[in-house]
Amino acid sequence: MHLPPFDKKTPFFRGNLHGHSTHSDGELSPERVAATYRDLGYDFICLSDHLWSDKRYSAPTVLDASFLNDQDFITIPSAELHCHGKLYDQDNLWHIVANGLPLDFTHATATETAPEMVQRAIDAGAYVTIAHPEWCCMTSEEALSVSHAHSVEIYNHSCAIGSMRGSGVTIADLLLNNGKRPSFTAADDSHFHTPDAGGGWVMVAAERLEAGALVTALKAGDHYSSSGPILHDISLNGSQLDVKCSASHSVSLVGPGHLAQSRHGPNITSTQFDLSDVSSEWFRVTVRDSAGRHAWSNPYWRDVLQA
Ligand SMILES: [Zn+2]
Ligand SMILES: [Zn+2]
Repeated sequence: MHLPPFDKKTPFFRGNLHGHSTHSDGELSPERVAATYRDLGYDFICLSDHLWSDKRYSAPTVLDASFLNDQDFITIPSAELHCHGKLYDQDNLWHIVANGLPLDFTHATATETAPEMVQRAIDAGAYVTIAHPEWCCMTSEEALSVSHAHSVEIYNHSCAIGSMRGSGVTIADLLLNNGKRPSFTAADDSHFHTPDAGGGWVMVAAERLEAGALVTALKAGDHYSSSGPILHDISLNGSQLDVKCSASHSVSLVGPGHLAQSRHGPNITSTQFDLSDVSSEWFRVTVRDSAGRHAWSNPYWRDVLQA
């Protein structure tokens, strides 16, 4: 039994869910951002410019980037949403990424809370992600308050190269251990002030290259995240979990506790784990290549797999 997203008969589309342009505080125009990602081989991007009232680094509107779309490359209307109330941010601002927003989605009011803003974006139809939790020193209480978001940024490339705080693993696993069921995303958060493009992306199994189809697939968890390696397949045969990937040096299977199973070697492209040793409600797979780059599966829940 192939596990999602490898059970889909659809193509995979490579995309950046979190990035900025001159619509807010990015270095490059939307046209140049799109050209850069086309050249890198992406199928879609999200110009998730800051949506907030402070004109120094944000815009009051969601950018309509549809003029950049063609048959082979599209944009998904997106924004990075802000509101007051975040600890450990110089402006006390939350950062939440929303992909698939209506263009008339408004920025938060001075009194809207983060849980309210997340719910408003969900209600508007967006795929909603807790952005760069390590970079903004997110507390456990804060993460749990917005755990109705669809996903956690498991890797943010701009934060990784800028502050070495690019991981979302701790917050993601905290939510999983509290029974929440986020999917994961890797993204660039590219501003182009630094070489921050092409370092983190999602591979989405979707019916077609169209914004609605991609957002539907993301909400269903039909994707994986990567900063380099390719996941070719994850399948379950009895209690044996088979993982196929591009040449990797470590492959790990983790669940709620500190115990992990791992495989190591110079060029692993296929390996197995015995799930009868794993009694936890959830597990997930990560691979690491020789350059230290990762690919992350979404979490798998045993009750869903057994249903
Ligand atoms: Zn941010
Ligand atoms: Zn950002």
